[in-house]
Amino acid sequence: MKNDLMANDVFKMASTQFDRAADYLDLDESVRERCKWPKRLITVTVPIQRDSGETEVFFGYRVQHHLSRGPVKGGLRFHPNVTLGEVAALAMWMNWKCALMGLPYGGGKGGITCDPRTMSLKETENLTRRFTTEMLPFIGPETDVMAPDMGTNAQTMAWITDVYSTHAGHLVPSIVTGKPVELLGSEGRNQATGHGVAFTITRAFNKLGIDDTKATAIIQGFGNVGSHAAFTLSRYGVKITGISDVTGAIWNPKGIDVEELVKHVAETKGVKGFSGAEEIDPEEMLIQPCDALVPAALERVINKGNAAKLQCRVLAEGANGPTTPGADAIIEERGDIFLIPDVLCNAGGVTVSYFEWVQNLQHYQWTEQEVLTKLETMLEKAFENVYHFAQTNNMSQRVAALALGIHEVAKVKATRGLFP
Ligand code: NAD
Repeated sequence: MKNDLMANDVFKMASTQFDRAADYLDLDESVRERCKWPKRLITVTVPIQRDSGETEVFFGYRVQHHLSRGPVKGGLRFHPNVTLGEVAALAMWMNWKCALMGLPYGGGKGGITCDPRTMSLKETENLTRRFTTEMLPFIGPETDVMAPDMGTNAQTMAWITDVYSTHAGHLVPSIVTGKPVELLGSEGRNQATGHGVAFTITRAFNKLGIDDTKATAIIQGFGNVGSHAAFTLSRYGVKITGISDVTGAIWNPKGIDVEELVKHVAETKGVKGFSGAEEIDPEEMLIQPCDALVPAALERVINKGNAAKLQCRVLAEGANGPTTPGADAIIEERGDIFLIPDVLCNAGGVTVSYFEWVQNLQHYQWTEQEVLTKLETMLEKAFENVYHFAQTNNMSQRVAALALGIHEVAKVKATRGLFP
């Protein structure tokens, strides 16, 4: 299994990042091995009847990296490229992210290899319900708490809540986070990840002496993370000059009207054809001059092929794993780009997920203002911790963030000891 995981490019990348940070920490070999490999890798088949009447069998995965510090927490992804190795990498990153943020969770991630864009609502619902049923022995509010990720949303979480609660015989809202607010979701969860991305960008601008109201940003991905990051950044006064999604890329040096673009995407399902901007090649868009570049879609999009050509001051990783180790090396060598690593940049999502879980366990609801204020306080603290650790130890922001997270996990593993 170790070899199978290492054969996956995304897992190999997460593993390389882990090794760099673990080398720096000089981790004891036994703790190091226990930190690195996932505790549980679950694969299930998910058969559903398509609208055509045919039966199709999908593959679904859930990886629970470890449960040493609490239940595992992490998204559920519906995408054609989902593999066990990718899910295992994403679970590992969630681990360090939760520990870095001081959340009482281990990392988890799940996914189904499917193309939700080609599925009807009913097919998606059936897929989600059947996957949840297959997962029932492995999930629970104290074991594994899912949340939305690429291709899933609040409605997906509502279906999971329904299946789990039906089996329990009573409503169990703490089984997932990112639920609709009327089903005891948290105020502020929907925009939390993008809001956090925008907040950490302004913290980086502050360190670099960049004025928000004179700054520009380019965003890859206009889903949950990208659209909310764009919206919050433009509220801070940052001009959004380029945005791309799966349908194409658009460009307007005078600034894209984000609210109008949201309406256009709601009508047409993509940014392509937006009248308030020109078309641009999506790859070219990434290397245009800007103050902040925000990859908020896929993994490995900043790589050896484009890292040397980037013209941004801040690289803000809204997506998980958007930068390859090869690109990291180039960026470190250049020394002119302030990297906000994914485990910090997009941690707003899991932090407000944690708030939602706490509210559900307490049967109490906080206001949006309370949620966002608490979120900013926690992000500010983590941002400063990473910044100072990196400065003090003369290391990259990525290694600093991972080392801080891994150190927390290693401490708990060493203290709990090895059984039997
Ligand atoms: P989403 O499904 O809501 O949106 C994904 C966006 O990426 C869409 O706009 C899609 O069109 C675009 N996209 C897909 N392929 C593309 C391509 N080749 N080029 C450009 N754009 C492309 O997903 P999301 O929830 O916004 O997640 C995006 C990333 O952020 C993922 O890496 C996810 O793991 C990460 N993330 C999400 C959350 C969250 O709360 N949703 C939290 C932390 C991290």
